[in-house]
Amino acid sequence: MAYIALKNINKIYPNGFHAVHNFNLEIAKGEFVVFVGPSGCGKSTTLRMIAGLEDISNGEFLLNGKRANEMGPREREVAMVFQSYALYPQMTVYDNIAFGLTLQGVDEDVIEERVQNTARILGLTDYLDRLPRALSGGQRQRVAIGRAIIRKVGIFLMDEPLSNLDAKQRVTMRYEIAQIHQETGATTIYVTHDQTEAMTLADRIVVMKDGYVQQIGTPYELYFQPANVFVAGFIGEPPMNFLRGKVQNGALRFGDNLLDLSRKLGERVKDYEGKELVFGFRPEAIRLGAAEEGYTLTAQVELTEMLGDNTNVYITSGGDQAILKVDSHDTPETDVPITFHIPMESVYLFDGETENVISV
Ligand code: ATP
Repeated sequence: MAYIALKNINKIYPNGFHAVHNFNLEIAKGEFVVFVGPSGCGKSTTLRMIAGLEDISNGEFLLNGKRANEMGPREREVAMVFQSYALYPQMTVYDNIAFGLTLQGVDEDVIEERVQNTARILGLTDYLDRLPRALSGGQRQRVAIGRAIIRKVGIFLMDEPLSNLDAKQRVTMRYEIAQIHQETGATTIYVTHDQTEAMTLADRIVVMKDGYVQQIGTPYELYFQPANVFVAGFIGEPPMNFLRGKVQNGALRFGDNLLDLSRKLGERVKDYEGKELVFGFRPEAIRLGAAEEGYTLTAQVELTEMLGDNTNVYITSGGDQAILKVDSHDTPETDVPITFHIPMESVYLFDGETENVISV
């Protein structure tokens, strides 16, 4: 039985706005699930419904198999970490972490032991006497997480907890959050708009757009088996290249290159004659030079970006554009043609109308 189950959950705000449509998900105990999607897609709304901070308009929310729609936040045994740390500025780190337990009247000795243990997990032992203003952003966020994990609740909810940190701190905290999860084993639901955070932290990712779930899967599944153009373009950096066009004589055109779709679709290519199709390939999936296996293309190099271990190569052919990722030792010169191939298994085809992947 699932630990948490959301069955056909919908949220319609009082102003009539339908923010979440038929959300279905089952979460196992100890799982780390990430909701990801662009701003306004309904991630926070869904998380807040799980927390009990927002009414569920319709659908059923189950905890341990029991209906929990009407339970208050306390009864649900969830702890939430928000984007803003909301620490008490006049209290020390120790008192901030201890606050929830102090309110509950827990014994001093027990509090001391749990604060010390929490501080150890979070690397805050040396900062327990400090006030929040004497901490870095990353340390403050750790205190906020400490306040949540000290309560030993079953479910840990995090809404963009790293968004106030700079890029370096985000990487460090991401690692720490993964470690805390390993150590505590708490079921975690984490909201972010950052696909890298989602990919690195999640056991499973829920990709959302405009209030609808687009796909649920492991990071591996989302990267290698995207369900549609949106997921394919959202997961991966730089995003997947999409060449759109009308199928003519069984082929799509990319500048001067003709992509013979029968090689991927076989006989089924006939079903798409005259229709819009999207040919997708990831920048990092290409190999330099021509090859019989896969699709060989030639294009013009417009610009290169050396990033250290690899280089982004911006190419055009006719009016079409794409990005290739190559080893930086192979960085090509600009304004000259480049020939590369896409291995057959790295080619994705999507229906131009529905934008759903065409399974082959
Ligand atoms: P972000 O990353 O920007 O926080 P999100 O994916 O978390 O985005 P939500 O905050 O869940 O998005 O909002 C989903 C949609 O619901 C948005 O279009 C938002 O404007 C709308 N919305 C949120 N709160 C309310 C409200 N109280 N009344 C009406 N509409 C709301």
